[in-house]
Formats: sequence, C-alpha cells, structure tokens
Amino acid sequence: MNARLQSFLHYQALELERFRVLHHAQRRGAVRARSLEEIERDVGSLLTVIEPAIRNRISLLIRNGQPTALVPLEDECYCGGCHRRLTAREAQLVRLGDVVTCERCNRLIYDGQEAVGAA
Ligand SMILES: [Zn+2]
Repeated sequence: MNARLQSFLHYQALELERFRVLHHAQRRGAVRARSLEEIERDVGSLLTVIEPAIRNRISLLIRNGQPTALVPLEDECYCGGCHRRLTAREAQLVRLGDVVTCERCNRLIYDGQEAVGAA
C-alpha cells in the first residue's frame, strides 16, 4: 500500500479511537482505553504527513459519527460507502493511488485492491 494512503487509514483509526474514548468513556465494563494524551501523541506524528484538507475531512466525518471516512473503491467504479458510480476520471485517479471525494456521501474513496495486495 502506498505510504500516503496508509497514513490516511492510520489517521482514521486514531480519530475513531479518540471518538470512542470521548463518547464511551463512561460505559460500565468497557475495556480500558488508551488515554486521549496517548492518542494525541500518535495523531501529532501524522500531522506533517497528511494534508490539512484530508485531515479535516476525515476528522469531520468521524466526529459526525460515521464509522468510516475512507471507503474502498467497489467493483472498479463505485463508491464503497454509498455506491454512487464514479466518473471515469475519478475511478482512474483512485486506481492511480489517489483519493477522491465522493460527491454524494463526502467520504474519501481509495483503491482497496492496492491496500489488500500490498498488506
Ligand atoms: Zn459515496
């Protein structure tokens, strides 16, 4: 998987972890989570790697309660989140390793095949 994409997925995981710590901290019997401080430290290491526009998009989606801000490309030309059909140009960009914002659901679409293949 390309390093840029990997950093996006890592950032998404951290945002999700932070969201859960903030919203479920009071739940009884919950597995003890990492502290916000620990999470923030990991987030800090990604701040210079990921463009602010992408970071903000991921943060916003996760904080609005979406379980995924990044979704894989489906069947070569569909958004893995809302199943909108991408334009040929968008699908091409994704296959080249870039991420494209879905016009309908606002999620970021990436090439999941590449992610799986290199994992
Ligand atoms: Zn979509």
